[in-house]
Amino acid sequence: MLEVSALSHFYGKHRALADVALGTTQGEIVAILGANGAGKSTLLKSIAGLVKPAPGAILRFDGQDIGALPAHLIVERGIALVPEGRGVFGELTVAENLQLGAYPARARQGEADRLAGILKLFPRLSERMSQAVRTMSGGEQQMVAIGRALMSNPLLLLLDEPSLGLSPLLSREVFRALGQIRAGGVGVLLVEQNARASLDIADRVYLIESGRNVGSGSAHDMKNNPDIQRAYLGKARTASTSRS
Ligand code: ATP
Repeated sequence: MLEVSALSHFYGKHRALADVALGTTQGEIVAILGANGAGKSTLLKSIAGLVKPAPGAILRFDGQDIGALPAHLIVERGIALVPEGRGVFGELTVAENLQLGAYPARARQGEADRLAGILKLFPRLSERMSQAVRTMSGGEQQMVAIGRALMSNPLLLLLDEPSLGLSPLLSREVFRALGQIRAGGVGVLLVEQNARASLDIADRVYLIESGRNVGSGSAHDMKNNPDIQRAYLGKARTASTSRS
């Protein structure tokens, strides 16, 4: 579905991404793990058309080149970003935020059914349709942000740190929803600081360090890899090397 290669991005002279490559297919969850500043947000923004890749990058979606498209036309192709910090409109109600997500032409058909599906995914939103979003909890706002992105009728959802700042309970609710979104046939490309939850839900994982690919594999293999456990899951070395 999405094919990215030779993707580099510079902020001035600082190279935030260096020849990154990745791919996603329909109906799978792909997680990107990496330390702070590794370039994960820049990667999602590049795919969404919010930052311009350096020349030579290849970004294809459903076999079509999207590398030169502006952000709103990338949404029309079926890629929706839930940005870090959510980007919801606090003064608007839940209903108004969701409606804004249906602005793209691809979203017009089946809008009512899509809204019903989102309210089924996040039942607590249906009780809060007329509430101003700024008065909601972080987790509820994240549900609005994901719901708004889903209103655009995406084939691929990009999520930047969806569990950041959420209680464990609401994080679980958000991750559960991602599983349901995948079951509905939508692809998910996920950047998360919660490596454990990402590895639990993802099908495949890419590791990014200092803007470069440093590994990839199935989430199952990654979870059982001692190097990954030490680096991302905070597991100590084997008992024989730990202090007694
Ligand atoms: P985090 O997990 O902390 O959000 P990240 O992996 O998402 O980090 P990015 O936000 O993509 O990383 O940043 C990659 C690098 O680019 C960092 O060194 C960051 O300081 C730098 N950077 C990001 N945005 C800008 C910007 N607008 N101007 C200059 N440098 C930037």
